[in-house]
Amino acid sequence: MRYLDIIKRFAKRKFSTQRLLIFSDIFSFLEKTACHYNGRGILSQMRSIVNLRPLILDLQTCSVCNARCVFCARQKLPQAKELMSIDLFKRICFEYAAMGGGYLGFSPLLADPLLDPLLLERIEIAKKNFSKISMYLFTNGIALPNFSDDQLIEVITRLKLINISLGGLTRDEYKVMMGVDQFKTVWGSLERLSRINQKLGGVCKLILHIRTHRRQETINSPALAKLEELGYDCSDIMDAFSDWDGLVTENDLPKGAAMIKRNNTRCKVPCLIPMSHMMIMPDGRILACGCIDAKESTRVGHLDHSTLLEIWRGSGLKAFRDSFIYGNLYSVCWSCRYYKNYEIVFSRTGFRNFNPSQNLWECV
Ligand code: SF4
Ligand code: SF4
Repeated sequence: MRYLDIIKRFAKRKFSTQRLLIFSDIFSFLEKTACHYNGRGILSQMRSIVNLRPLILDLQTCSVCNARCVFCARQKLPQAKELMSIDLFKRICFEYAAMGGGYLGFSPLLADPLLDPLLLERIEIAKKNFSKISMYLFTNGIALPNFSDDQLIEVITRLKLINISLGGLTRDEYKVMMGVDQFKTVWGSLERLSRINQKLGGVCKLILHIRTHRRQETINSPALAKLEELGYDCSDIMDAFSDWDGLVTENDLPKGAAMIKRNNTRCKVPCLIPMSHMMIMPDGRILACGCIDAKESTRVGHLDHSTLLEIWRGSGLKAFRDSFIYGNLYSVCWSCRYYKNYEIVFSRTGFRNFNPSQNLWECV
């Protein structure tokens, strides 16, 4: 483990999400100075890699979800029923592989991929035909009992990572954070997933993203130690949330959870996300940012009219990236907590000799 990872791990346990953001801003400022001298070569190499393709292609293949998280904008907008066709999925894989490939995430903006009836078929297609594509998944895990052990073995052996969002470590807190009474089901599935993964030699990295309004209790909970024993990376414990461009407010959050609003209006360098990711919705519409853009205000193209490469290099995405440089930020970015200066990130030593089969977030 890099020394920086050890410090980050310690800090994540010790400080609130809001404090962490302040430290991260100070650290970024120091890094900016250091990178100016040391990281130019790495940055230039990363620029040539992302000139060819996004490092991560996130897909929302279906539009349904079985949770009602208090920190999510899903409930705030009507959701059309959508399912990505297999033909479109194959085309996306084909074009992405032709661009050089990278990570493909079943990592939707406002849905759960385990509810996609074609998920296993998609995973098999990508694994069998596209060696330049590495896959991962982001789920709430509620639907895991719908998968047999054999199906889970297929998923685990074909994916590089599985991310699971967990609303606290007790049944009561889970109900408050996720809006449904599914803690016991998910806990059972976490044990099962870990058991299967361990039998397979730990081939898939398992990461939990714990969303809580009782941060200290969560950190001190024996349940957290148990999850770590089961092999889960539990370093992401979050008690402060984004406002999804005004859709979620402080009133939606329980006591103990906070809303984070940064001031990004003075950020003159494009955010890491549109420099490295692209979000594809079920019918092929493409968003420059799939983090919190529930209103789809960053829509930059549609696969009905253009190829992936055309959109990646097209005027829509360029205008979005340039909005940081010229100070005409889209409202979704104004106070977003996920902003990261891409030049600083791409100058870090973790990116020396980077290749797209590596996971961007492990190098950050
Ligand atoms: S955060 Fe994810 S799991 Fe929770 S309601 Fe939104 S889409 Fe569903
Ligand atoms: S600032 Fe936030 S909303 Fe804007 S591109 Fe970055 S992650 Fe997306």
